[in-house]
Amino acid sequence: MEIDPVCKMEVNETEALTARCNGAVYYFCSHGCREKFMKAHPEGRRLYDLIIIGGGPAALTAAVYASTMKIDAFVIARDLGGQALDSSKIENYMGYDFITGPELIDKFKGQLLHSHYVDHLMNMVVSVGPYADGFTVTTADRRTYAATAVLVATGMARRRLNVPGEEEFQRRGVLYGNIQDYAFVQGEDVAVIGGGNSALQIVENLRAVARQVHLVSDEKLSADAALIERVKKFENLRIYENATVMEFTGNESLTGVTIRTERGESTHIPVNGVFIAIGFHPNSAILGGIVELNDRREIEIAPDCTTSYPGIFAAGDVTNAFGKRIIIASAEGAKATLAARRFIMNRNTEGPA
Ligand SMILES: Cc1cc2nc3c(=O)[nH]c(=O)nc-3n(C[C@H](O)[C@H](O)[C@H](O)COP(=O)(O)OP(=O)(O)OC[C@H]3O[C@@H](n4cnc5c(N)ncnc54)[C@H](O)[C@@H]3O)c2cc1C
Repeated sequence: MEIDPVCKMEVNETEALTARCNGAVYYFCSHGCREKFMKAHPEGRRLYDLIIIGGGPAALTAAVYASTMKIDAFVIARDLGGQALDSSKIENYMGYDFITGPELIDKFKGQLLHSHYVDHLMNMVVSVGPYADGFTVTTADRRTYAATAVLVATGMARRRLNVPGEEEFQRRGVLYGNIQDYAFVQGEDVAVIGGGNSALQIVENLRAVARQVHLVSDEKLSADAALIERVKKFENLRIYENATVMEFTGNESLTGVTIRTERGESTHIPVNGVFIAIGFHPNSAILGGIVELNDRREIEIAPDCTTSYPGIFAAGDVTNAFGKRIIIASAEGAKATLAARRFIMNRNTEGPA
């Protein structure tokens, strides 16, 4: 893999666009990035009409809309894909009877990088703050970018259990159900923690991969009834309801999980992999109290994706919009760009308030 010098995205050298400069070969994700590089504008540009934060369905749709509406936009994202990458089976996105998350995201990415190019940078935003007539957005490497408006589409992150061993064995047995994680537990005994739809979907995916699956839920299973009925028939599944995870143990990598059962007994389950699926929390901390959040720490938005702070827009799972779905996040991203455009146009004609 090579790194695109403009946006810092990892690119496969056999598929990437290339350019020669001072004897060196550079690799690019798209014609847009190569053009920028060739015009010798590596990453110095710092002032935009709109900065879109995030790389999931909401942000990618927002970016494509920004491109089609000729908004001078910049996307800053930790990754391109977001949670949708983890979905092994999407059956509810219009236009496709069935598609995997990675396939759908490849199509979104293609639209952004090749059909409707928008400047972009792979980085983590650490804060957003009001500045002069607009906002500054600061990334993890302490660079600051400025824009008239900001669109936050940072989605949600998986909740942690916060028990001993969870951090120590991250990616060395403690996993979260990404498609690529299943390869680690081929033929092994595994545990799945959680009792909702995500956890039971993981159990379904593991059925043919793992040898024995232990499902540990701290309450009665709460997934859809049809899903519960299906997994309960699996011969290689053992279910522990009303059980608490106490700790993860191991040496070089995970070798087991200790739980307290419904009867209050401590039980050690030898496993080589554990999948934690206990829900999500919204990635709203970068706004640091500038906009109103609800009690779940979701950004409160009006139907047009405006927040309580003029000029900051939000879309997708990070907001209080009803329905955490790809199609909803995408639509909200489009809506937020339309609202941001209205704001930018008014600002350009009327000047700042
Ligand atoms: C296992 C699983 C299966 C699912 N299956 C389906 C399904 O079948 N159908 C369906 O409709 N929905 C499904 N969903 C839900 C769907 O994936 C989400 O509703 C959707 O992805 C939300 O999109 P989003 O853009 O709002 O947020 P996300 O997808 O969460 O994307 C957020 C983006 O923001 C980035 N980001 C976060 N913080 C920062 C920061 N500080 N700086 C820069 N970037 C940041 C993230 O890296 C990510 O790129 C599933 C979810 C999971 C986890």
